[in-house]
This record gives sequence, C-alpha cells and structure tokens, in this order.
Amino acid sequence: MNFDLLPIAGAAAIALAAAALGAVAWRRRRAPAKPAAAQSPANTAVLDTLTGLPALASFERLVQERCAAVEKAGRDACLLAIGVDDLRLLRDDAGAACAERALAAAAAALRGAVGATTLLARIDADAFGVWLDAPREAGEKLAQRLVQTFDAPLDVDGRALAVPLSVGLAVAPEHGGGARLIGRAAAAMQAVRRSGGHAHAVFDARIDATHNEEVLIARELQHAVVKRQLELFFQPRIDAATLKVSAVEALLRWRHPTLGLVSPARFIPVAERHGLIETIGGWALDAALRQAAAWRQADVKLRVAVNVSGMQFRQDDFAARLERGMKAHGVPADGLLCELTQAVAMENTEATRKAFARLAALGVEVAIDDFAAGAAGLAALAHQPVRELQIDRATVAALARSHDARAMVESAVRAARELGLRVVAEGVETEAQRDAAVRLGCHQLQGYLIARPMSARAVLMWAADAASTLAQTMPSAAFKDTLPMVNPGAQHGFAATRISLGR
Ligand code: C2E
Ligand code: CA
Ligand code: CA
Repeated sequence: MNFDLLPIAGAAAIALAAAALGAVAWRRRRAPAKPAAAQSPANTAVLDTLTGLPALASFERLVQERCAAVEKAGRDACLLAIGVDDLRLLRDDAGAACAERALAAAAAALRGAVGATTLLARIDADAFGVWLDAPREAGEKLAQRLVQTFDAPLDVDGRALAVPLSVGLAVAPEHGGGARLIGRAAAAMQAVRRSGGHAHAVFDARIDATHNEEVLIARELQHAVVKRQLELFFQPRIDAATLKVSAVEALLRWRHPTLGLVSPARFIPVAERHGLIETIGGWALDAALRQAAAWRQADVKLRVAVNVSGMQFRQDDFAARLERGMKAHGVPADGLLCELTQAVAMENTEATRKAFARLAALGVEVAIDDFAAGAAGLAALAHQPVRELQIDRATVAALARSHDARAMVESAVRAARELGLRVVAEGVETEAQRDAAVRLGCHQLQGYLIARPMSARAVLMWAADAASTLAQTMPSAAFKDTLPMVNPGAQHGFAATRISLGR
C-alpha cells in the first residue's frame, strides 16, 4: 500500500491551471458596500458605512487611475493591504458589536498614521488598503511602522484591545494595476497571516504561485464531498503498558483524480481559509462515527479520535451536531475522543468555553494535539476539561538526543499526572524514541514505528497480529521494570477483547 502523500506544491498542472484564475479568490469576500455601488457616478466614492472610508469598488477605480498616472510618469508607487489579525477571536470573545467598534478604531488609527491626504479604503471585512505615491522603500518603511504602531493596544469603548496587523505590499507598475495590484498586495498579506501574522511582506512570484494554487484547491475542494473523493485513514495508538490498541486516530485523505492522495496538512488550512471546513470537518466527523459504529457492531469497541478544527469547535452548534451524530450512529461518548490544537484549547473565549462545557456535559473527552509548551502551557489548560496530552512529533523526534526535549516531556508528564491526564507520544519512529517516551512516563504511543495510518479494513488485519508482533519487538531492557508484557503465547487470532478502550 502506498502511504506517501503527494506534495502538491510544485505540481505543474496546478500551476498552469491556477495561473488562469488570477485574482478570483480576492473577489470572493468583498467588504460590505452600499448596494448603489455599481450605479454611482464615476467621480463619487462609495463609502463603507462602518468606517466612512471608500469601499473596494471605489478604491479599485481610484487605484486604476493612479496606476495609469504613475506609469505614464515613469514612477513607482505602492499598494498596501493591511489586515487586522484575529478579528474573529475578538468577535467570538466580545461579540460582533465590539469587533465592529475595534475595526472602526483601527480605521481611525490608520488614518492618523498615514495622514489625512493618503488614499485609505476598506477592502475586506477585516482589511484596509493604502495607496502610497512613493517608491518601494518608502512603502516598506510605512508597512513596518504600521505593524509597530499597532503593537500598542487600541482604546475601544474604554477597553485596551490588541489589534495586531499583517501587511502585504505590491509595487505599481511592476506588479500590475487596479484590481490586480490590490489582489497581489492582499496575497502578500495572506502569506504573512499564514506564517503567523504581525509582520509585513512584499509580493513576489512565489506568493503568487502559492496563492493561485490555493485558489484552485479551494475550488476543487468544494466538490470533494459530493464527488466522494474524501476518505478516512486510521492510525492505531497503543497503550505502553498493555500493548493493547487504545484508540485509532481518524485522518482525512483527499483522493484527487489527477493529484493522487492529498495530505490534510495541505488542504485543511485551505478549507479553513475558504469557509469549507464545516463541510469537510462535518463529513470527517460523520464518517468517523459511522466507522466506529461499524466496528462496534462487529464487537470491536475501538475508540476513534477525531481532529476538530478550531473553526468547527467554535461553531455554536458543534456539540449539538456531535450529539446528533453520536445518537444517529449509536456511538457512546467513550467511543469518541476530540483532538484540539493547544492554541484553540487555550483561546479561552466565550465560544470555546461554551464548547468545552457542552462536550463535558456530553461526556466526550478532549485531547490536546501537538502539545509542546511544557508545564506552563498545561497550567493554562488546567481549567478546561482536557483528558489527554499528545506530545508533538518534533519533541518526540528530539527525545533521544536532546536534554531539553526530555526535560519538557518529563515536566509535562509530571504535571499531567497531577491533573489526572494521560500522555501520548506522537510520531514515534525509532526504538530509541519509543524507549525514551516510555521511560519518561508516556502512557500511549503512536507513530510509524507502531503502525502507519491505514484503511478501516487494514486496521482489523493489523490488530489481529499487533499484540504478538509488538510483544516480540518491544521487550527491550528499558521496559523490564515499567512494562508488564503481554504473553505472546496467550494470543490466539483476532479477538475483540484485545482491542479495548483506553483508560
Ligand atoms: P495530526 O493530528 O498531528 O496527525 C498526525 C500526523 O502525523 C498525520 O499526518 C500522521 O499521518 C502523521 N504521522 C503519524 N505518525 C507519524 C510518524 O511516525 N512520523 C511522521 N513523519 N508522521 C507521522 P496527516 O494524516 O497528514 O495529517 C496531518 C494533519 O492534518 C493532522 O495532524 C491534523 O492536524 C490534520 N487533520 C487530519 N485529519 C483531519 C480532520 O479530519 N479534521 C481536521 N480538522 N484536521 C485533520
Ligand atoms: Ca491529531
Ligand atoms: Ca498531532
């Protein structure tokens, strides 16, 4: 079986097809503008009602005119796309009205920073555009200054709110004019956001390729569910003490007709940015429950861990949908585990607090995926109903050679023990990593050394042999004192009792 996923960046077919798409994605989410925009006379700016700034349609027209003028004059000019980071978090935590006032305050602060005569507009729900009639160096300086200025919190209704910025810069005429120039500055801004935000970047060909590829993926991904191109693979995780399968993690795969198997690491973030995660994540959850139910019907009580995107988790009806799915498929709460990233679990917004409370009421356990921040991070999670910590693959990879990694795992295990959490070592690839993880007290192991992600059918075949194979491969000296070994002689064929739920 081929488990290698195609690294789709660089696929020539995509690059070619994507080039034709140009600034389509950019036009997907326009800033709210007055409906009369299209009919307004050419010399009247259509204003955004919230900020009083020109809206996108007017800005495009003005930028088009100014681009023509600088090109004629043989000068360069800059277009800055300025995105307010994390506006969604603020909306979840403090409400839509507060988020709107924060955006209006940001618009006022930007006006103060760029001066009264500079062309400033609202170009998206959470982004502004600035036309700067000056060469690239001046544009970069302004971008840097804006990012730094917004380090200081803004005063919104007497509250000090952090409103960090991501700024993308495109240069006219080199990077085009009008809508194309704005789209390219916005693509640079999105690239900044993808790498964490709170910085600036100048548009280049690489950003263009990534942006176009993303647009193409998003367009095709929309139809992936209907076209039945999505699949779940399952990766077993074992209990370090008993060597029994404690759970399987459901991992999405997109079987694309020309690209082959596409990794979720590539398409999940795209789905999140393009409003597709509810459909895709909803499908994955339902498919995982369906498979869990099928296994249970075959008397295999296998707990299924599902990855839940922050965007799904924050949805008002996430827990209600989960409950409906569990009822419809007849899967009890302990047949399921929700994996959340640490960043989402630590958000502590109104939306996440509610979601945690509802999951706790349902009795569904939550695991923290890719836990890497040590005991301090754990303290921040102590108030959430989390039951499991998964040590991320990078830390596990460093275990055999890095004292820091070992110290981090040791302190996480100690703190987890106090809080009654179990600890899973993820991405275990070598025996040295496995032995170190077990010696440090990790309760469960997952990784290529134990098993690769596989189809649901393959899980049963693997499990039939797993206990005896693992027992033969794992009786290393490091386990003598810590691991009660299963007796390989006692294994006979596949039995549901050997596949049991974790603690
Ligand atoms: P993750 O939750 O950290 O999942 C573990 C990833 O590490 C999986 O990659 C798995 O195949 C890989 N892996 C497991 N053991 C090893 C190992 O020993 N060595 C190495 N090098 N890799 C190992 P995958 O399947 O490509 O998934 C990537 C990420 O995509 C997942 O990371 C998860 O964050 C996300 N994802 C997968 N399925 C879903 C889903 O249904 N919903 C959501 N929201 N995200 C998903
Ligand atoms: Ca996971
Ligand atoms: Ca993980």
